[in-house]
Amino acid sequence: MITRFAPSPTGPLHLGHAYSAMFAFDMAMAAGGTFLLRMDDIDRVRSKPEFEAQAIDDLHWLGLSWPEPVMHESQSTARFQAALKRLEALDLLYPCSCSRADIANAASAPQEGVPTHGPDGQIYPGTCRNRPMSSFRDGDAIRLNMRKAIAASPLLPCFVETGSSHAGTHQLVADDLLTTIGDVAVARKGMAAAYHLCVVVDDHAQAISHVIRGADLYDATRIHVLLFHLLRLPIPIYHHHRLIRDEAGKRLAKRDDARAIAKYRADGATPNDIRQMVGLPASSI
Ligand code: GLU
Repeated sequence: MITRFAPSPTGPLHLGHAYSAMFAFDMAMAAGGTFLLRMDDIDRVRSKPEFEAQAIDDLHWLGLSWPEPVMHESQSTARFQAALKRLEALDLLYPCSCSRADIANAASAPQEGVPTHGPDGQIYPGTCRNRPMSSFRDGDAIRLNMRKAIAASPLLPCFVETGSSHAGTHQLVADDLLTTIGDVAVARKGMAAAYHLCVVVDDHAQAISHVIRGADLYDATRIHVLLFHLLRLPIPIYHHHRLIRDEAGKRLAKRDDARAIAKYRADGATPNDIRQMVGLPASSI
């Protein structure tokens, strides 16, 4: 078993991150496997070396360790380009110059019961769908043509989820991909690739067997599974765990500095106090 924790170094780690990292670490250790750390730092504007250094320090303090070197998404550009080339060779991509406002304006009036937003934001209305890749210009995003992706996959893949809220084997369904996801961005303006492609390519590069992460990413899993499938890469097992919430039931966010691990450390908490706070058994290490 190879698990990972893949934070974006765009803010301090908080209790929710600690839970996710310790959960993935504990799972790997219990199975005699390996836990890996990856910095999802593709966003060069928001990622900061000081957040990365603090995250590594917090994780070590929590008792976690991993083989070095730590992988950095920002250094995977060649892998992302190779994956984009592969999808392009299958004729599944097109360039898109729409801004968020363009997308919002072009979206048809919502029909009752038809979703307008999916795990990749507003479902893309298809304005640029007929553009060939040869018309790509700097500043364009690149989208996956979902209809073509489905047509290229007569047997849609399934994935195994072991997290208790969705445990089971799930088959991707064409209609559902079209209506609830649509043409997702696989590269964004000015970036080598978009999150969904990065996570798939890097999880494969790290040979992750079990993707362990928060339940907030469950809906995006179908996108990842489809990308693994289109790229002919093995699909990992998924485990989405519960989210750590504040007293008001709200999910913790990066800006929630009050729950930053560094703050608890400064207040004299021990790593086992943190384990207790998030409902994990005390560490025997
Ligand atoms: N880097 C992503 C985040 O910070 C997590 C990636 C993943 O687990 O798929 O939320």
